Amino acid sequence: MKLLNKRAIVTGGTRGIGKAIVKELVNNGCNVVFTYFSSDESAHSLEKELSNDSVKVFGFKADASSFAAADETVKFTIEKLGGVDILVNNAGITKDTLMLRMSENDFDLVINSNLKSVFNYTKAILKPMIAQRFGKIVNISSVVGIVGNPGQANYVASKAGVIGLTKSNAKELASRNINVNAVAPGFIETDMTDKMNDQQKEAILSNVPIKRLGKPEDVAKTVLFLCSNDSDYITGQVLTVDGGMVM
Ligand code: NAP
Repeated sequence: MKLLNKRAIVTGGTRGIGKAIVKELVNNGCNVVFTYFSSDESAHSLEKELSNDSVKVFGFKADASSFAAADETVKFTIEKLGGVDILVNNAGITKDTLMLRMSENDFDLVINSNLKSVFNYTKAILKPMIAQRFGKIVNISSVVGIVGNPGQANYVASKAGVIGLTKSNAKELASRNINVNAVAPGFIETDMTDKMNDQQKEAILSNVPIKRLGKPEDVAKTVLFLCSNDSDYITGQVLTVDGGMVM
């Protein structure tokens, strides 16, 4: 129970890594508002599955790329949970193709969903967090944001941007007792990576010293650490969760 009675917002909580993060936080006593883009049914069933007498869990439909929607999420959370202690910026998408074929629209869509979303939620949450002199912000980046990847220029730019935002915000907010860190997952088995064929997966595995693909729970446990008091002296860092792929 590392987060007993804490209050969190997790963006993109209906599937994959975000869902595992919501479960990990709730299992540690945290009340959670999770957002999603369109999966109404999954949101309702997750809400039902996790809510109990001691922990409140709410799904909230909100496009992470919209600042107005982020602001509404924060207002909803304060109304339902009484405040916000933890923000996990997890929502993200891919629109992969080579730079030569990449449309302006697909570039903008990925940057807005993956990078501007982090600005939106961090900005929307700052005043209440600064006022309470406590906060933990965890941004989900990616190892490709560190090393680059062909066919993912939009995604890589967004994830590298998340690392820059994390470091600047960490420096700005440390004096207010707000820690800001990033997690950079490697290849994690979710809907996002399910599109790859076995040959592509084998090629990735050959570069993973811990010879297996990652699970959403591997990332969720690292996020829990960065949301808990165990990481109070850590800020502005990027923790890779990738089986040793990037070192
Ligand atoms: P996923 O399985 O595709 O799930 C994405 C989640 O984000 C869903 O809950 C989705 O909601 C939500 N979402 C997408 N766009 C949104 C928007 N505009 N507004 C609100 N919610 C939105 O993805 P994942 O693999 O778990 O990835 C989660 C995060 O980890 C992403 O930031 C991703 O870039 C990062 N990551 C993943 C991997 C990997 O190998 N899987 C590796 C490195 C980094 P709906 O269900 O409503 O669509």
